[in-house]
Amino acid sequence: MIRVENLVKDYGSLRAVNGINFQVNDGEILGFLGPNGAGKSTTLKMMTTYLAPTSGNVQVDDLNILEHSLEIRRLIGYLPELNPLYVEMNVYDYLQFVASAREITGQAFKKRLGEVVDMCGLRGVIHKYISELSKGYRQRVGLAQAIFHDPKILILDEPSSGLDPNQIVEIRELIKSLGKKKTLIMSSHILQEIELTADRMVIINKGEIVADGTTEELMRSFKGKTVLTLEVKNAHEADVNGIAEAVRTVSVAKIINQNGTLTAQLEYPNTIDPRSEIFDYAVSRRWTILEMSRYRVSLEDVFRTLTVEGGMQNG
Ligand code: ADP
Repeated sequence: MIRVENLVKDYGSLRAVNGINFQVNDGEILGFLGPNGAGKSTTLKMMTTYLAPTSGNVQVDDLNILEHSLEIRRLIGYLPELNPLYVEMNVYDYLQFVASAREITGQAFKKRLGEVVDMCGLRGVIHKYISELSKGYRQRVGLAQAIFHDPKILILDEPSSGLDPNQIVEIRELIKSLGKKKTLIMSSHILQEIELTADRMVIINKGEIVADGTTEELMRSFKGKTVLTLEVKNAHEADVNGIAEAVRTVSVAKIINQNGTLTAQLEYPNTIDPRSEIFDYAVSRRWTILEMSRYRVSLEDVFRTLTVEGGMQNG
């Protein structure tokens, strides 16, 4: 398990990461999401021991980045954001170079090379120069480099940035298949990218965590909702609450009573439209409807709320 504890990073007078806490469970694919400049790369660099924190720590099982940076590097495979490759090398030589830095040579290298090349779909390009490869293939080489020593943990910084839509799908599938056997953390500034890949997501904005939960949980709370404001006269509060009984898909978020006029906020999933049932119910109870207005919460709304207006804590 990885535990990020009160992690802070200052660049001069700029606080890029402001005391963040989150944890990553073994075997999980964690999406680390946030707009550009939020502090994702800085956090990942500290987690991989490439950058010293200003304060705070990261625990990896019973090791921590302050005292055990070498041991932690052995446990982690890291694909940095700009995927620095030696483009004048061919894929074979590059992987041999990477492997030798990890002290994997001779027979052990040959055996592992075969596995990695198959996993990353590099069989056809093994003798090509990296400079000849498309961005998608370069990213595969970057992933091959990261997994060569069979690390327990994989940390990928914006692995699909700069790829075309087809390449994105391929890399996403590759990441998912690699993630089956490892603890995997990937960053992205695109909500959908994380939604499609990660089990859990942590959202960071301006150096602070604004949401943390399972992807399913967060996506449900994100995209699902329509808020319907219903203003009625001649109604009893208990009766208005009764809507949730009568129309099962609706929940009552709040009711305000102002001099006998009740304003109820009803919520239901975006995928359905129970307005006529709500109307029928209102008529059957003989309410006078003054207003019925609808607000759809979109994915973009939520991401904006979380990352522009200061955010909300979730979970
Ligand atoms: P993200 O990966 O989410 O785009 P970064 O971690 O790269 O965010 O950057 C967070 C903030 O720190 C940004 O304001 C960025 O400009 C600043 N920053 C990043 N690296 C450096 C650096 N080496 N020196 C000074 N400021 C930096």
